[in-house]
Amino acid sequence: MIIVMRPQAAETELAAVTALIAALELTAHVSKGAERTIVGVVGAPADKETLLAQFAQLDGVESVVPISRSYKLVSREARRERTVVRLPQGVSFGGETLAICAGPCSVESREQLETTAAAVARAGANVLRGGAFKPRTSPYAFQGLGEEGLKYLREAADRNGLAVVTEVLDTRDVELVARYSDLLQIGARNMQNFALLREAGGARKPVLLKRGIAATIEEWLMAAEYVYAAGNHEVVLCERGIRSYDPQTRNLLDLAAVPLVQGLSHLPVIVDPSHGTGIRALVAPMSLAAVAAGADGLIVEVHPNPAAAFSDGPQSLTLPNFAELTARLRVVAAAVGRSLPEPAAAAV
Ligand code: PEP
Ligand code: MN
Repeated sequence: MIIVMRPQAAETELAAVTALIAALELTAHVSKGAERTIVGVVGAPADKETLLAQFAQLDGVESVVPISRSYKLVSREARRERTVVRLPQGVSFGGETLAICAGPCSVESREQLETTAAAVARAGANVLRGGAFKPRTSPYAFQGLGEEGLKYLREAADRNGLAVVTEVLDTRDVELVARYSDLLQIGARNMQNFALLREAGGARKPVLLKRGIAATIEEWLMAAEYVYAAGNHEVVLCERGIRSYDPQTRNLLDLAAVPLVQGLSHLPVIVDPSHGTGIRALVAPMSLAAVAAGADGLIVEVHPNPAAAFSDGPQSLTLPNFAELTARLRVVAAAVGRSLPEPAAAAV
């Protein structure tokens, strides 16, 4: 149920609404928009009809809307304005300027990260990506540098005016990863790790929630609801392809999910064309298509020497490939009323 307050509702009227919600042992999620405040109510009330009437007659309440969808707080009904998630360095997801996240699949060394960060910043990326905790199919594959990797990420990002996104694999590491990064990535394999979603919901950093390997749109939005309902309203969704029957590509990139999810939810949606295809040659065309389809940003794997990458070399762009891509992306972004970040001046 969503309670829409009148535009001129007083703070005391809002307080009376939240007090009644608490007295009924339900949970209130207050979201203050530019024009009006909306209160999401979650819980399992005994008698919904009586409850709707009870709230509708409170002072300052404009309307009370039942939400029949399984996800509620992240639904469009719960919030008419689009959510804009902001990171340091002026990065925004859901604003006019796109968020362009780029960097290696895995953090491998200080040098690798510094070279990549400097090049992607010059090409117009505004967020540095790189995994320090890697979800690998084989337990014998490179698992990431852990905290050392987080340090390299932070250093390289700070030196080049970038924000940091990196994956957190384990509930026990949320605090540690949040200390070094600006955006906590929850990977496809963990989309339904409910303990991790709840933990990220209590974190003081925004969350990037990737779509699960075989997740429906509804399951994905329900996963976002876990984070949101646990108190973290800064959630960015990432379409990264789903498993299909055809092994020609690593995953089937579902670009229709972008406008679809933007119609169902107020949360920003970005696209990962690297994991979405698994093939370097397909990354640029799918990036251009994602922006044309209205994506709020991209997350792209870039490596100084993909042939020597510890993970995901075949889908990683080279540094010149990435610079060429951002130049082409500027044209497509302008055609759909968006823009790319201005390239950073070369670091000294
Ligand atoms: C990644 O971004 O490095 C990654 C492992 O992605 P996903 O969870 O989408 O497979
Ligand atoms: Mn990868």
